[in-house]
Order: sequence, then structure tokens, then C-alpha cells
Amino acid sequence: MHFTGTVYRNPYWPTWPLLEITQGCTHNKCKFCTMYRDVPFKMSPMKWIEEDLRELAECDPDAQTIQLLSANPLAMTFDKLEPILVMINKYLPKIKYIYAATRVTDIRNKTVDELKKMKELGVREISLGVESGDNWTLDRINKGYHAEDILEQCHKLEEAGIDYWMTFLNGVAGREHSREHAVNSAKIFNQCKPMLVGTGGLTLFPGTPLLEEAQRGEFTPLSEKEMLEELKLFVENLTCDCAFTTHHTISGVNLSGPDFLARKDKIITALQHQIDHGDLDRMAAIRRNKRTL
Ligand code: SF4
Repeated sequence: MHFTGTVYRNPYWPTWPLLEITQGCTHNKCKFCTMYRDVPFKMSPMKWIEEDLRELAECDPDAQTIQLLSANPLAMTFDKLEPILVMINKYLPKIKYIYAATRVTDIRNKTVDELKKMKELGVREISLGVESGDNWTLDRINKGYHAEDILEQCHKLEEAGIDYWMTFLNGVAGREHSREHAVNSAKIFNQCKPMLVGTGGLTLFPGTPLLEEAQRGEFTPLSEKEMLEELKLFVENLTCDCAFTTHHTISGVNLSGPDFLARKDKIITALQHQIDHGDLDRMAAIRRNKRTL
């Protein structure tokens, strides 16, 4: 198999085979991310993709699921993507779910009809690292799109019938803009129909512009307590009828599962309990020891 640089495996699909169809990230400019800093974006050669598919077919000819790599494998136009999807179906004829994490902007270059064809070829689930629905925050972290883009592209996915996840990056607006980040993100997420909303907590990694800004006093990271308060505010404002998962920030407390709305009050109570009684020093230590997103 061919793997280049960082390999991100969706932790919720730990056994799905991985297929690298692109390398690196087309954007590579988010201020909190170092995952693909040293890997220029490229499409993987078709020869490599075919070799890998042959290998996967030898290992598991009945495979029904696969995750595409790398950071945003759906960035390519439909014309380039279609032959790859056809090839996946040729080598793995029982494939049912092709999953990829990708950027909101990667949907822009595809029509709804093209998205529908992608679904017919197996692309059933996409994870969008949205991070925020607040324009000030999106500009601040150099995400490369605005809230209006999130709405427009998510609605295209809904029309095409492709399920999608949306992520909220807790803490990324810093102390100065925490409230707006939480409330405005929930407002944008509420206008979409994600199958799952996931949250992760910001860690300032060495080499990131955001850490350098924090060291210069231009960005004020949230304390663990403030992270929990921001997450609680986001949850209080979120009304999506979807699954909900949270990790990073409150390791050890499982708030993840289906039926967010039915569990919303319990999640808020648990977060408040963490705010009042949680081992915040331990949470900070866990965060300090992280090495990547
Ligand atoms: S967060 Fe995602 S889109 Fe942003 S630079 Fe990292 S991999 Fe690329």
C-alpha cells in the first residue's frame, strides 16, 4: 500500500481499509494544524491507486467499506474522481460505503447531479471539518471559507442524499471571541442536517501560527474550564436532530451517542458537572501531551 506522510484514520471506523487517492491538503493554511505541513498536495498516481486496490481485493474481496485519504481526497473535480470511484467498484464489487473526510470547499466544484452520481458509486458519508460557523473565527484561523459557504455546500449534500458529519473546534476562537464562536456555530449548524455533530478541543501544537500568536500575546487560549463552558454554550444552542460525539476535551466522560436532542439535557448536566467538579489539571495534562490533531 502507498501512504504518504500523515495518515488519519477515522477513529469511529477503525477497521475500514484505507485507500490514499490524494496526498496532503489543498489548503494547508489553517492556523492550528500541522498535520500535512510537509506534504504538498498531489493526486496519487492512478497506477498506485490500482496497485493498492488490487492488494485490498486480495486481502478482502468482499469488503463493503473503505476510507479515502488523505486530508481532502474529494478536492478533485468529478471528472477526475469518477474513474477512481469506478475502479474501487471494479476491484471491490460489494462496496457499499465509501467515506472521506474533506473540506467544505471541496463540494463547491461539484454539481448536485455529480454528487448524486458519487453517491451511486458508493460515496455515502463525508466528514466536514467545519470548525466554526462564525465568520470572524473562520477568518481568524484562516479556514478559507465563510458560514455562507457551509450552508450552501451542506445543502447540496442534502439534496444529493450524501450523509455528512460536521465538527466544531472548541476553543479555536480564543477567549476574546469564545461566546460568538459557540453561539454562531450552533446557529449555522442548526440550519444544516448533519447525521452527526462532533467536537474536538483545540491543542496548540509546536509549529502552528496559533501557538506563535499565543506566545506573542495575540491569542489567548481558553483554560480547560473555559473550554467546557464554551462547549456547554454550543450544546445549549444546538438543535440539530443528529448523533453527537465529543472527544479531546473531556476524556473519560462518554457523552457520545445517537439522538442528540433526546440526550441534550443530560449532556449539558454532565458538562456542568465537569465544570464544577472535573479534574481540570488532568485534562490540561492530557492536552499538553498531545502531539497531533
Ligand atoms: S485542518 Fe484540515 S483543511 Fe486545515 S490545514 Fe489541516 S488538514 Fe488542511
